[in-house]
Amino acid sequence: MGIDRGLSAFVVAAHADGTEVARITDSPKALAAGMKQQRRLAKSLSRKQKGSHNRRDAAAKLGRHHHHVANTRRHFLHQASNALVKTHDRLVTENLNVSGMLANRRLARAISDAGWAEFAQQLKYKLAWRGGTIMIADRWYPSSKLCPRCVVIDRDLTLADRVVTCSCGYSADRDLNAAVNLARRGEKHHLEPRTPKHGDRATHARRRDGADQHPTSAGETSPNDAGTDVHTAPAA
Ligand SMILES: [Zn+2]
Repeated sequence: MGIDRGLSAFVVAAHADGTEVARITDSPKALAAGMKQQRRLAKSLSRKQKGSHNRRDAAAKLGRHHHHVANTRRHFLHQASNALVKTHDRLVTENLNVSGMLANRRLARAISDAGWAEFAQQLKYKLAWRGGTIMIADRWYPSSKLCPRCVVIDRDLTLADRVVTCSCGYSADRDLNAAVNLARRGEKHHLEPRTPKHGDRATHARRRDGADQHPTSAGETSPNDAGTDVHTAPAA
């Protein structure tokens, strides 16, 4: 199954035959609202006189809100990654330049970027627990621009184009098309294991590492964790 970090959705998952499996859009909007409120609370705090009761109260309020936003985000990411690894054991996603994307100044997009890095990590270790594999397509693979039928690349496709159309008559939602092409990439890779391209080797090495162990570093949950870990807010 191909997993695309979409432009209009947080994630779109699809099979190589063109079937859309999942489209997750909801939470980033709720998070964006939470972030806006967080910014407002921080501003309010900065206006309070140092050492005052008002300032102490504002700081506590901001702290509680910060934890609420972090919990909302974590819960959303775990739910989304669980849903995907429980139904599929071979995933293909993109190798994304996360640091580059974090430079993007649009708020909702920035939150989504941060979430995506964590989400990709979750997919990786949760799949390892289940004996599944994740393949990372290289950054230059034109997943959104490719027509899966005639394998022609639409070089004119811009970020504003939400629908991909090909001269062969094929037409699809941009994010879905990317997920389909990623899934196809995985199938092709599976059929040609003896001709790895430069860059694919690292993916194999990571996959072997991940399959041999159950990582337990900070932030990773146990295999049975439903992703509902709640972190308590600091005392006011
Ligand atoms: Zn075509």
